[in-house]
Amino acid sequence: MKCPLCGMEFNPEHAQKACAGCPLAKGCNLVKCPNCGYEVPKEPEFIKKLKKKRRREDDA
Ligand SMILES: [Zn+2]
Repeated sequence: MKCPLCGMEFNPEHAQKACAGCPLAKGCNLVKCPNCGYEVPKEPEFIKKLKKKRRREDDA
């Protein structure tokens, strides 16, 4: 996956978990970019929506 902040591509399976020590929710599907430390959703729904939206604009 690609970090939306710095653009670095990394494997989410190898990235450190952002919320490993979070007492409220274990495994909140955030991964931390190894380059800049930005917390990225493992399953970026907002990116899918953005792509869908962009595709629609391309069709129009
Ligand atoms: Zn990054």
